[in-house]
Amino acid sequence: MVCTHQNMIQIKDIDPGSKGCEECLKIGDSWVHLRICLTCGHVGCCDSSKNKHATKHFKETGHPLIQSFEPGDDWKYCYIDRQYLE
Ligand SMILES: [Zn+2]
Ligand SMILES: [Zn+2]
Ligand SMILES: [Zn+2]
Repeated sequence: MVCTHQNMIQIKDIDPGSKGCEECLKIGDSWVHLRICLTCGHVGCCDSSKNKHATKHFKETGHPLIQSFEPGDDWKYCYIDRQYLE
């Protein structure tokens, strides 16, 4: 199966609006790993973090594609297909 949502990727060079999870920074909370939305550049925390803001961002906006925002990691993930992309 091939992800058909890659036309929603609007970020070419990742230039995040934030160094950490935007929502966690606002409420002074912490996270485990960071994910960046490839449609709008939103930075959110992963599902191992208690607040799961990356997943919440997908549920609120419908932006399906994220990329790991951890140093050395460059995998992408589609929430709709639930699959990792090359
Ligand atoms: Zn997809
Ligand atoms: Zn968060
Ligand atoms: Zn987004």
